[in-house]
Amino acid sequence: MDLTLSPEELRFRDEIRAWLDQNHPGPAPQDTEQNFDFRLAWQRTLHEAGYAGIAWPREYGGRGATLVEQAIFNEEMVRARAPAPANILGLIMGGPVVMAHGTDDQKRRFLARILSGDELWCQGFSEPDAGSDLASVRTRAERAEGGWRISGQKVWTSYAHRAKWCMLLARSSDGARYRNLTYFICDMRQDGVTVRPLRQITGESEFNEIFFDGAFVPDENVIGSVDDGWNIALATLMFERPGLGAASALAIRLQLGELAGLIRQNGLDDDASVRRRFARLVVETETIRLNGYRGLARAGEGVPGPEGSIVKIQWASLNQAMTELAFDVQGGAALESDSTWAYRLLRARANSIEGGTSEIQRNILAERVLQLPRLR
Ligand SMILES: Cc1cc2nc3c(=O)[nH]c(=O)nc-3n(C[C@H](O)[C@H](O)[C@H](O)COP(=O)(O)OP(=O)(O)OC[C@H]3O[C@@H](n4cnc5c(N)ncnc54)[C@H](O)[C@@H]3O)c2cc1C
Repeated sequence: MDLTLSPEELRFRDEIRAWLDQNHPGPAPQDTEQNFDFRLAWQRTLHEAGYAGIAWPREYGGRGATLVEQAIFNEEMVRARAPAPANILGLIMGGPVVMAHGTDDQKRRFLARILSGDELWCQGFSEPDAGSDLASVRTRAERAEGGWRISGQKVWTSYAHRAKWCMLLARSSDGARYRNLTYFICDMRQDGVTVRPLRQITGESEFNEIFFDGAFVPDENVIGSVDDGWNIALATLMFERPGLGAASALAIRLQLGELAGLIRQNGLDDDASVRRRFARLVVETETIRLNGYRGLARAGEGVPGPEGSIVKIQWASLNQAMTELAFDVQGGAALESDSTWAYRLLRARANSIEGGTSEIQRNILAERVLQLPRLR
């Protein structure tokens, strides 16, 4: 595999670099909601400049660029420490799922507004008794005139309080497991939808509970076929995982630079144990970068494969190990401080849970990549 950028790719990289230099929005606010608004404004700026949906086809409002160019763009965003766009779930999951499985009407209705940030999306999959075992969701969809009535509860739904649309998985029949679920796009702004914030270990309320009490979804907002929601949900998760992990090697490398400074500041640069832990982090970051490129080289058109789980597991454990080292290096001071590293340490705890736990990713790799016998 040749990792050298072509002259056109180098030109594209330089163009992005120069644009980011000119248009970087400056430091992000700390407050969660202000931060979200800041990222929404940034998404609009990206969109106006033609940089939202780099690899989305032109007919859907994207730039029609290659996946390599998308990766170059992601790396430049991280290098410039630019914020992530606000409608992240729409961009990495909602949009790709509509493109892959939606009707032409759905593509016209939803895609452009995901890119512009005019309509924000959330993902209503997990329930109190259905997280890893997603197929056991209990939220019901009952037939109604022209559509469906939804009743039940979702949990841990990131950005539900800001979303217009929810990718919703609900039980639509009493048929066999995996053949009784339908994938809906549910309007969050209606009677029958109640969103309650949940407070996270970081103190933020980025995610929520959602209660559906007879919420209506018209037939035209079913993605794929009725009772075939399981396959669409799997496709959604395949889009999510590499999206979470891929550009992160560079982000971690930048943070490792900060960590090296912290180690020196605390006079620990000659400490053998700290050096060993730090060296290990550097090596693991490099393997994430190379695995990310391997995934990119393999990704043809269409849905990414289960290999995305490799990068997801590596990223989660590396980010946790890095923040733990930063914490250990600071000693008691870390506990007192309200520092960036304290925030990162706490936020990293979720990395091995969100987007599917590390145990579940290992099961996917065992069964679908290594072809080992199924657990059940
Ligand atoms: C920050 C954050 C944001 C999130 N955002 C969203 C969102 O926007 N939308 C959404 O739908 N969900 C979201 N989630 C939920 C997330 O997808 C679930 O938490 C996750 O899938 C695990 O489900 P659970 O919490 O029910 O844990 P459980 O499934 O109950 O798992 C508990 C433990 O058992 C282990 N386990 C379970 N089954 C197996 C098995 N078969 N083999 C081995 N070990 C197993 C798990 O690995 C875990 O350690 C978010 C979670 C977090 C932390």
